[in-house]
Amino acid sequence: MKAALLSVGTELLLGEITNTNVVYLSQELNTLGIDVMYHYTVGDNPARLAEMIEMAFMDCDLIITTGGLGPTQDDMTKEIVCQVMGDELVLHEDILESIRQRILSYKKEMTDNNIKQAEIPSRAVVFYNDAGTAPGFALDRTVAAEDGSETKKQYIACMPGPPREMKRMFERSVRPWLEGMSDGVLYYRELRCFGLGESDLETRLLPLIDGQTDPTIATYAKDGECSVRVASKRASREEAVEAVNAMVEQVREYVGDYVYSCDDEDLVQVVSRKLMEQGLTISCAESCTGGMFAAALTSIPGISKCFDRGLVTYSNQAKIDELGVRPGTLEEHGAVSEETALEMAAGVRRVSGSDIGVSVTGIAGPDGGTDEKPVGLAYVGLDFKGQLTCRKIDRRIKDRRRNRQHAMLTMLDLINRSIDTM
Ligand code: ATP
Repeated sequence: MKAALLSVGTELLLGEITNTNVVYLSQELNTLGIDVMYHYTVGDNPARLAEMIEMAFMDCDLIITTGGLGPTQDDMTKEIVCQVMGDELVLHEDILESIRQRILSYKKEMTDNNIKQAEIPSRAVVFYNDAGTAPGFALDRTVAAEDGSETKKQYIACMPGPPREMKRMFERSVRPWLEGMSDGVLYYRELRCFGLGESDLETRLLPLIDGQTDPTIATYAKDGECSVRVASKRASREEAVEAVNAMVEQVREYVGDYVYSCDDEDLVQVVSRKLMEQGLTISCAESCTGGMFAAALTSIPGISKCFDRGLVTYSNQAKIDELGVRPGTLEEHGAVSEETALEMAAGVRRVSGSDIGVSVTGIAGPDGGTDEKPVGLAYVGLDFKGQLTCRKIDRRIKDRRRNRQHAMLTMLDLINRSIDTM
């Protein structure tokens, strides 16, 4: 099935709001195996909305709209969709009652506009709104195929604009409606990787990707990590699961060294889970990440069993005072060096008494680099029950945000690998 997403609202065209609905819906349709071909956005203008629906149907069999279902004059999605799909609006008593109950719960009075919201196309499948008043709906129409020899069905589903209402409606009603129309079951697994770029990942997987139609293998990059999604659509879930699992094993043969999760957990979740499972305690000393590692770890519920403390030791003096880094080390090797990173890790482990001490020191940029120590250079130190390890990061990237994010992920990656091997 080929789909188009159609966002309705002048605010979107004016750049007053960010179109988060299309991001969410594109991801969701993708997981259902529906190809999203186009994103369209149109203002609150009846003629252009009608034109855009017809245009989208030239290439797609499914359109999903958001916005313009509210009670005010400029909300006209329902009327236009009815007109294009050849239907008429009728008052829906059940919806009217549910709107009445909701308005009563707000201690407000029903208006004519609210009654208008209870009007739905006569042939529509109704999607109730648990989070607001405007119901959604789906309609279909039958049209002649391009060659005129047969007919085909086209579908349009309309949802309200507010993201909270739209997501609830999608999860509870629209997703099951789409699954009911599908001619197969889609199953996928996502393998998360760290330590190589997306193009490198894709190149290594080319022998598997080339000529592959089912399962499909797709690579993605996001926030310093990348992932491989293996998906299959088969007649039954069992068949799809079997096909995906077999392909996941093959993918692991090519890039297994970089895969840290096959079950959609991110790196901080994986590390926290392992720390908790193994009853390991941890403390950190951060310089260039300024507390990002501690913030990431403490976002995980239950981590208080493992996480003792996080010190942000930004200046040389802080490294000396809080961690016992030797002034001679700083003078001889500099703050951004393997020697300092290791003394920081050992220092925080000593003052905390944790099983694991992890540290980071680096030049996040965009300025402050030298030929010898360029922007992007960082060292991650690890003291794992007395065993010292250091990883050098040399990325030559001038982007402060990305360098800090990468340094934080490297800390997690080093801990993850150490837990696995020690
Ligand atoms: P309502 O019943 O609230 O009037 P509606 O279906 O008429 O719902 P709109 O009036 O088009 O929706 O939008 C209401 C609000 O929802 C917008 O002001 C905006 O905050 C949010 N919104 C609408 N469309 C989007 C979108 N595509 N992405 C993110 N937010 C959106």
